[in-house]
Amino acid sequence: MKFALINPNWNFDGSIYFGCREPHLPLEYGYSKALIERAGHEAVIIDGQLMDLDLDGIRARVAEYAPDFTVVTTAPSYLFWRCAPPELRIPQEVLKAVGDVGGTLVAVGPHGSTTPRAAYAKLGVDVVVMGECEELLPRLADESWDAIPSICFGPRDNPKVNGGPFASRFTDLPALSWPDEWVTRHHHHHHRFDIDPNGPRPGPGGEMETSRGCPYRCSFCAKENFRDKYRKRPLPVVLEELDRLIAQGVEYVYFIDEIFLPNAELLEALVERRIKFGVQTRIDLWKEPMLELLGRAGCVSIEAGVESLTPEGRQALDKNCRMSTEELTDRLIFAKRHVAFVQANLIEAGTDDDGMVEAWRKRLLEHGVWANEPVPLFPYPGSPDYRKLWGLPDDQAWERALDHYLTHHVDFSDIQDQRPLPLRELELAAPDMR
Ligand code: SF4
Repeated sequence: MKFALINPNWNFDGSIYFGCREPHLPLEYGYSKALIERAGHEAVIIDGQLMDLDLDGIRARVAEYAPDFTVVTTAPSYLFWRCAPPELRIPQEVLKAVGDVGGTLVAVGPHGSTTPRAAYAKLGVDVVVMGECEELLPRLADESWDAIPSICFGPRDNPKVNGGPFASRFTDLPALSWPDEWVTRHHHHHHRFDIDPNGPRPGPGGEMETSRGCPYRCSFCAKENFRDKYRKRPLPVVLEELDRLIAQGVEYVYFIDEIFLPNAELLEALVERRIKFGVQTRIDLWKEPMLELLGRAGCVSIEAGVESLTPEGRQALDKNCRMSTEELTDRLIFAKRHVAFVQANLIEAGTDDDGMVEAWRKRLLEHGVWANEPVPLFPYPGSPDYRKLWGLPDDQAWERALDHYLTHHVDFSDIQDQRPLPLRELELAAPDMR
């Protein structure tokens, strides 16, 4: 059987999408391709974004390949599953374009993981995969769908949902390899600011993961249905994948781990390699000697969620942070002595005084640490915050969350072109999809 794995050429016009808009390596498809081939099938990744393919271009490649299965993701790379664009317009357009040449149509991504029936209806696919997708895709070719967990399929008006979202074992996934052409085209260095973001790059960038999931349960974090439980890849596999990228000329890697935890063994191995990298983590988990080692290992970018400047605010967000604000501040300032760019993120939780926030940001900036202005949160379906507001996500969850966000947080004095739109204006109507 042949699988075409499509990453759309994303466009976020009218979206509240908060993630990065540059192309990144589609890690979920890298693993999927490897496991599909291991199961004796064939797979090709058609990355519309990295290759800058329009709908005709994607359709032509699918038609030429003549797959039995065509898979379309609803978020640009695993890196952004927790902050995916709420709307399904772009995957809808791709599925519509390949519908008569793609064979069995499959959707993967955060939308189907959280609201499988809604994604099934909106996308017009034959099956939706819920949760982490790489282990399940080969099974679609080999097993009766009734026996496969974590999929949604069947009658259009009343599809069957087999269990809840799937979590891959992950620890046994192989080291990924990417075509030279892809790596060469990957100019983007994700979340890197120690060099001019718009200037020339010393070499290509890349993304990979050393771990997946996170043991914490912050109220705003949409990871309940994928990438939830913490799992760590074996070091030899991580290094094999990294060394392949380095051999291809990659100069900077972003580790997409939800929470890059202190790991002396990994950091010591990175010290020996001429690679720079960026991470997202919690600064309260790093002691000073490990931060020093992190810098020596090549880390040039830390993004750390502080979220609120009061213990009450952090508690309200279920941050489960044991440090005081003063200790967090000192730790961030210490980190900046060893890592070129350190960012502390704040959330508009309604608990922090504006003057206190400004004074704190100014103090950090004087030490070279960047702290963003507090940002309002989108209550993602699949986050505890969504459940607190409305209970478990139903088929209208994405519409409800976006309407809420637009009502409470978007300044409609903005000029029309910049105004985010509700889903009913952004997405194609479900009946148009079949
Ligand atoms: S620390 Fe909190 S925000 Fe970060 S990944 Fe874990 S649960 Fe999500």
